[in-house]
Amino acid sequence: MSAVRKVLVQGGGIGGLTLATALAQRGIEVDVVEASGPEAVLGVGLNLPNNALSALEKIGVRDTCLQAGFPFEPLVIWNAASVQVSAIPPPQGRYGSPSNTAISRPLYSGILRDAAEKAGARIITGATIWEMIEDGDGVEVELATWTGKRTPPLRRENAAGHRYDLVVGFDGVRSRIREHLFADAYTPRFTGFASWRVTMPRPADLTHIAFAMCKDVKAVLTPINADQMYVGLVTPEPGNPRHASSDFTRLLHERMRGFSGLLGELRDAITDGHQISYAPLEHLVVREPWFRGRIAIAGDAAHTSPPHLAQGAAMAVEDAVTLAAALQQHSALPAALHAWFTRRRDRALFVADMSLALLKQETGTELTAEEEDLVELGIPGAQARLAQEAY
Ligand SMILES: Cc1cc2nc3c(=O)[nH]c(=O)nc-3n(C[C@H](O)[C@H](O)[C@H](O)COP(=O)(O)OP(=O)(O)OC[C@H]3O[C@@H](n4cnc5c(N)ncnc54)[C@H](O)[C@@H]3O)c2cc1C
Repeated sequence: MSAVRKVLVQGGGIGGLTLATALAQRGIEVDVVEASGPEAVLGVGLNLPNNALSALEKIGVRDTCLQAGFPFEPLVIWNAASVQVSAIPPPQGRYGSPSNTAISRPLYSGILRDAAEKAGARIITGATIWEMIEDGDGVEVELATWTGKRTPPLRRENAAGHRYDLVVGFDGVRSRIREHLFADAYTPRFTGFASWRVTMPRPADLTHIAFAMCKDVKAVLTPINADQMYVGLVTPEPGNPRHASSDFTRLLHERMRGFSGLLGELRDAITDGHQISYAPLEHLVVREPWFRGRIAIAGDAAHTSPPHLAQGAAMAVEDAVTLAAALQQHSALPAALHAWFTRRRDRALFVADMSLALLKQETGTELTAEEEDLVELGIPGAQARLAQEAY
């Protein structure tokens, strides 16, 4: 018998929707509370490495993602003049081909949302948890209306309480469930760098991810479908400034000024008409168990890293499908959560720590002794480990 009958997931992002689908497909009743409204802007694009596709196969959406995305094999390294200097072949391992598929984020979210709803999960948008009271055999939850990241939620008058066997916080890097469990013991640490992303037409010969460094600025081109790619930039942003969005085009041009060839042409083609997304890059790892009693955290809420292995969302979907499996395999909740955390901890924290080490290495930032050991592996070594190890 499953360890739970009714679960509340806070956060209907990549991990939360995957978990909701996996649980509902097992006959477990699931509610998802998601802060954003149904029309939320969902970002640009992301790469699904083959381990993510394997996890997505477990909820039946692998083929839909492959059809909607752009599969590719090697990663190609350019110099700042956009000339290829080397390539990283796909890692050999247990997850098969294609080794990568990049996809538009809105499309990916739509696929996951459809799957969750089809499986029978209830998704409540514009909402968040107001209060959770845990007792011996359940968690009593009151919901509130989400009013924004910097304003408190609005308590719903006469709102009925709901009772759950488990509450899971898949509520991202600023997780309020993490705060509920651990107070301020874990706060995301700004890495000193930020990411810029903009969707542009795909040149016909860009059939794989290409990246290039110019001093401490990294540019990445990722094809996401037959017509589009996204241009990503990782730049030093000392002091974590809050740029006005009206300055984005000018700042992006300044930061890309050292690139030439195709990257220079793309820079010159970026205008105020493009939608540019900017995000400070943060690192956070919860090294102790990701649960207390009947409340757990997963995905970015438990481990967030810069995108240097393109594995953050992959770790969230792996967390989700393994949590659903553990809840089904164990009849006692503590045993299920313990088995799940033990299975996930080393792999997810390796991705977070390795990604930060790669960012620091690429940008000439001083490494700790542990990070020196990690960067010895390099991207090929890290990819090989992730491809060979079971999640
Ligand atoms: C620039 C960049 C590029 C990246 N590229 C890749 C890539 O190529 N491949 C890859 O695998 N990963 C990539 N990642 C990482 C990836 O985006 C994250 O790791 C992934 O989205 C984490 O999934 P999640 O479900 O844990 O959190 P999220 O996807 O962030 O979802 C959290 C959800 O919770 C909601 N929420 C937050 N607070 C509350 C609240 N209090 N109440 C209710 N709802 C709430 C949010 O609205 C959101 O929908 C990238 C990240 C960055 C910054």
